[in-house]
Amino acid sequence: MTAPSNPALLITGARPYGEQPQDLLIAEGRIAAVGPEASSHAEQLRAQGTQVETLEAEGQIALPGLVDLHTHLREPGREDAETVATGSRAAALGGFTAVHAMANSSPVADTAGVVEQVHRLGLDAGYTEVYPVGAVTVGLAGEQLAELGAMAESSAQVRMFSDDGHCVHNPVLMRRALEYVKTFDGFIAQHAQEPALTGWGTETPAQMNEGCVSAELGLPGWPAVAEEAIIARDVLLAQHVGSRLHVCHVSTRGSVEIIRWAKERGIDVTAEVTPHHLILTDELVRSYDPVYKVNPPLRTEADVHALREGLADGTIDVIGTDHAPHPTEAKECEWSQAAMGMTGLETALSVVQMTMVETGLIDWRRVAEITSAKPAEIYRHTHQGRPLAAGEAANLILVDPAARRTVDPLQHASKGRNSPFRGMELPGEVRATVLNGRAVVREGALV
Ligand SMILES: [Zn+2]
Repeated sequence: MTAPSNPALLITGARPYGEQPQDLLIAEGRIAAVGPEASSHAEQLRAQGTQVETLEAEGQIALPGLVDLHTHLREPGREDAETVATGSRAAALGGFTAVHAMANSSPVADTAGVVEQVHRLGLDAGYTEVYPVGAVTVGLAGEQLAELGAMAESSAQVRMFSDDGHCVHNPVLMRRALEYVKTFDGFIAQHAQEPALTGWGTETPAQMNEGCVSAELGLPGWPAVAEEAIIARDVLLAQHVGSRLHVCHVSTRGSVEIIRWAKERGIDVTAEVTPHHLILTDELVRSYDPVYKVNPPLRTEADVHALREGLADGTIDVIGTDHAPHPTEAKECEWSQAAMGMTGLETALSVVQMTMVETGLIDWRRVAEITSAKPAEIYRHTHQGRPLAAGEAANLILVDPAARRTVDPLQHASKGRNSPFRGMELPGEVRATVLNGRAVVREGALV
C-alpha cells in the first residue's frame, strides 16, 4: 500500500493506550516493532541504508487510527459544503485513518458509478481512507431498493448501506434490504426516525427535541418515541431475518434500553453515539443559534447521562461523528430555515476525552475500542482498528492528552464552520496521524 520512498519512522516514548512508554518502529507500511527492539531494529535499517526518521512522543498516547462509520463528505454535488479532499484533511487532523461517507450526496450514492467515484476521490486525496456508504433505496426515496449487489461488487466493495438523513420507513423494504446484504455479510445502518411523528413532509417539521424546552419555545418537537419505535421494530426485523443492523446516532435513554434488551436476546445489532449527543442538551436551543440544530436533536441531561452509561457498558458500540458540514449561509439564518447538522471530525476525540475519560467512565483502551477497533470490526476491515502490535498495518495516531485548545472553526480544515464547540476549551490534541505507514499529520499539522 505504501510508496517505497516512505522513510521508516521511529516513534520514541509514546504510551500505547495510555499505558507504559514504548518505542514503536514503522517500516514499509507496518508496525515493525514495539518496545526495546524498536530502536535496535531501527539501527539495523539505518545500517542497511534505509532512511529512518524519529518522532519524539514523550507524554503522548499512541492509539490505533480512528475509524468513523458516519461522515458526510458532500461530494459529489455539494462541494460548496465539503469535498472529499477537504473532509479527508479534516479527518486526518482529527486522527481518523478511515471514514465512511454517507450516501446523501447529489447524485445520491445509489449506483456502482457514484460509489466508485467517491472511493477514487478518497484515494486521490490520500489523507485518510474513504469508504463510500451505499444508499438503501433509490434516491433515498424509500420506494425501491438501490443496486445493493452492484455496489458491493464494485471496486468500492461497499458493505454498509444507509439512507441516512432519511429513515427506511417501509418495513417490507427494510426486511428485503436486511435479507439482501446478508448474502455478502453487509449491514444496514438505520437513521431511526418515524416520519409521521416528526412532521416529516408537512409544513411543521420537528425543529428540536420534544420536551419542556420545545413547549416553552413553541417549536415543533421531535419526540424520543419517534426514534425508539423504529429501533424496536428494526431489532425485531434483524432478528427475524438473521441479519446485521447498525443504529446510527442513538440519542435517547429509551433507545439505549431497547438496544440493551436486543443484545441480551442475542440480536446482531450495533449502535453509535455522536460526540455532540454526549455533552450538549436541548437547553442550548434557547439561544436560537442554528449551530445547535441537528438531527436527531439535542436531548436532555437524562439522555446524555444514559448515552454515556451505554457507551461505558458496551450497549453502545462506537462513536460516529455524523460530521455534517454546511455552507455558512445554510446556518446563519433563522432557526426554522437553517440546515440540520454539525461538524465533528476535528473535535471528536477531544469530546470523548472530556466526557468519557476525564469523568472516569472509561480508560484509553476502551477509547481505542469505541473509536477504532469496533467500528473497523463492524465494517470487517482487516487493516484498520488493529492492535498496536508488530506485524499490523501502521494506521495509528499520537495524542497529547495534556493539550488544551479553544475551538476555532475558522482554523479547521473542513469547509464547514458549523461546530457547536466553537469558543469552547477542549482537552487533547492529535499530534500525528500515520496512514498505512506514512505520517499525514505531524506536530498537529497536515504534512
Ligand atoms: Zn442521520
